[in-house]
Amino acid sequence: MTSESLNYIVDVLYIAAFALFIYGLSGLTGPKTAVRGNWIAAVGMGIAVLATLIKVSETATTLDWILIGAGLGIGVALGIPPALKTKMTAMPQLVALFNGVGGGTVALIAWSEFIETKGFSEFKPDQSPTVALVVGSLFAAVIGSVSFWGSLVAFAKLQESIPKNVEKRLVASAKLFQASNIVLLLAAVGAAVYIGLHPGLPVWWIVAVLVFAGVMGLFVVFPIGGADMPVVISLLNAMTGLSAAAAGLALNNTAMIVAGMIVGASGSILTNLMAVAMNRSIPAIVFGSFGGGDTAAAGGSAEQGTVKATSASDAAIQMAYANQVIVVPGYGLAVAQAQHTVKEMADLLESKGVEVKYAIHPVAGRMPGHMNVLLAEADVEYDAMKEMDDINGEFNRTDVTIVIGANDVTNPAARNDPSSPIHGMPILNVDESRSVIVLKRSMSSGYAGIENPLFFQPQTSMLFGDAKKSVSAVIEELKAL
Ligand code: NDP
Repeated sequence: MTSESLNYIVDVLYIAAFALFIYGLSGLTGPKTAVRGNWIAAVGMGIAVLATLIKVSETATTLDWILIGAGLGIGVALGIPPALKTKMTAMPQLVALFNGVGGGTVALIAWSEFIETKGFSEFKPDQSPTVALVVGSLFAAVIGSVSFWGSLVAFAKLQESIPKNVEKRLVASAKLFQASNIVLLLAAVGAAVYIGLHPGLPVWWIVAVLVFAGVMGLFVVFPIGGADMPVVISLLNAMTGLSAAAAGLALNNTAMIVAGMIVGASGSILTNLMAVAMNRSIPAIVFGSFGGGDTAAAGGSAEQGTVKATSASDAAIQMAYANQVIVVPGYGLAVAQAQHTVKEMADLLESKGVEVKYAIHPVAGRMPGHMNVLLAEADVEYDAMKEMDDINGEFNRTDVTIVIGANDVTNPAARNDPSSPIHGMPILNVDESRSVIVLKRSMSSGYAGIENPLFFQPQTSMLFGDAKKSVSAVIEELKAL
């Protein structure tokens, strides 16, 4: 087969691949089509890998094939077991890790391009256009390295493998990290520009770019407090996409450009939506102190009074005689895997004439859309899931709000206490309900590590225990009424 017809086949396969990426992505807009959408995009990725293998087959030596085979083997061996075994509650950190691996790969591609072209001074005939290769590689080196190291810290934070006292010290040093980030960004970009303008520099120049950018990635995420973490995670995701698109430009690989741009564009839109929802500004999170800092280190406000414990039977009576009950799910719902039990409880209440709605905070749980996915899995109607802005006006005319494993997203200190590390973050106005029942196991804090005054307010009572067990007990009581 001629080289021209081979290139033609590769182009057709790449077009098929990114058509499948886009079609697959459109399936991710709803829970019913999401699994199929994921499979379609995965098939697209398989076709893109096949096309790339066909592309390299023209020039690949036996050693190249051994290396490609080893790479594919290692990737499959490392990727499939965690994807199959990881529990749903640990999915956010797995996604952070996979995202980081994408950024790291792109940074390594940039490094290898630098070596192969002897510091962008000698190009092969098929390496064109040259400016795209140099600029694309250097952009990919900076952003890919930030994304890799930043995602590793995000993984560790979500996995809760950083000891609390160390994390508090990191958050307290936010200003120091943020000042260093400006210096590191200037150093990484300055070195990259110097490389671009001076072809043939020794290899440690590109290593310096990777190191400056990598340390910046660590320093950006180290001091991020609970409220800003979701925005940073989607920012890292967008950065990996953009760096992959830049590497695609450098390698003249259409599938990489398209796939990278899809991730970069959707990640950027999500980052912006999350920042708006959290009342945060992205530059302020990365380069300036915004919340967090000293108060977060101090752990927020001190305990504020006595706590009233309640029982499953009392909770059942209150809800059975209410006109409207609002369910507020949070990360604890995911931990307890209580979604099906909660739906059963809601069905029982509805059969008794009670109106049940679900209030969804944009950052409840540990990943965007976490609560929607869980509740959809339990067949909760989409119409019953109300977004924060739509439901907040309803709490003050609601008889009972039942908070199931949520904490930070209900914390009134975000609204009332200017010294709180999460002050300014929009919350669900749960405290305006006539009665609030909070289901959690203890008085311990949520992800942001701060006290929640809601638990001490007179209208609040606590139903202590695992959320699934507590809801099951409430169901038994409801049945007996
Ligand atoms: P929180 O992390 O604030 O609180 C969860 C609560 O669930 C805890 O207080 C815990 O209390 C309780 N809990 C845990 N396990 C159980 C269980 N088995 N049964 C009953 N309760 C349980 O969760 P929220 O959803 O309110 O807030 C999300 C937080 O995570 C925010 O700070 C957000 O910024 C952050 N975040 C969100 C991301 C996202 O994209 N959505 C990403 C990264 C961070 P106890 O131990 O006493 O049971």
